[in-house]
Amino acid sequence: MRTILIVGNWKMNKTASEATVFMRDLLARVPAQPANLELVVAPPFTALESVRLALGASSPIQLGAQDLFWEDHGAYTGEVSAPMLKDLGCRYVIVGHSERRTLFGEQGDLIQKKIRAALKHGLRPILCIGETLAQRDNGTTDHILTQQVHDGLSGLATEALATITIAYEPVWAIGTGKSATVEQAIAAHRTIRQVLATVASPTVADCTRILYGGSVTPHNIESLLASDQIDGALIGGACLQVESFATIATVASVARSTGV
Ligand code: PEP
Repeated sequence: MRTILIVGNWKMNKTASEATVFMRDLLARVPAQPANLELVVAPPFTALESVRLALGASSPIQLGAQDLFWEDHGAYTGEVSAPMLKDLGCRYVIVGHSERRTLFGEQGDLIQKKIRAALKHGLRPILCIGETLAQRDNGTTDHILTQQVHDGLSGLATEALATITIAYEPVWAIGTGKSATVEQAIAAHRTIRQVLATVASPTVADCTRILYGGSVTPHNIESLLASDQIDGALIGGACLQVESFATIATVASVARSTGV
């Protein structure tokens, strides 16, 4: 069974000092040793160190980054590399978030370079993919998802592919309060898993976690996790309050065990 993964993407929110206070409160609220659940927070680069210190050595929460550059070091003003993230204790890194694609023009081969850099340094990439509303409306969702999986992952070794997580995030659902329906999410996840079977192998496709992202809240997380096609969630807005993120974590910690 795939372990549920809940990732909080803070985006450009919280200073390092605010992060320290937030993490202290969050750690007091999340399940202590969730059996079939991994929890990750992805703060801005500037707060990674304070979050790492707040987490300590044996925390139920792991550290992730929101992006990385593909070179290890050099004259790349403003960029942050995989070795830097690894050194700060990051285990996961988000790659190809729709805001990076839309606002910073990130596309296929660039995203694959970032994925390769993460893998080279033992970071676990979370590849974000998803269609726009126009693409959904004109019936090209499956084509777009197929293209984005190929762009991000084609040519990678099977062992590397086995460490990747995919986040299906319909662009129209991100930050809008308009989540995909469970049926829409399941259909997209099935498509992604089929593409993974051809890009990697049926075994890798079966083991890969596919998260849903887009207006996930404490109110809809249970119905999303009720499907064994949905292996967790990438959460934006609802991860910025202790109460909502902790509630999502608590619901996720019992989701599979109660058979919902
Ligand atoms: C996101 O940015 O990845 C996201 C899913 O945001 P929200 O939960 O706010 O829709």
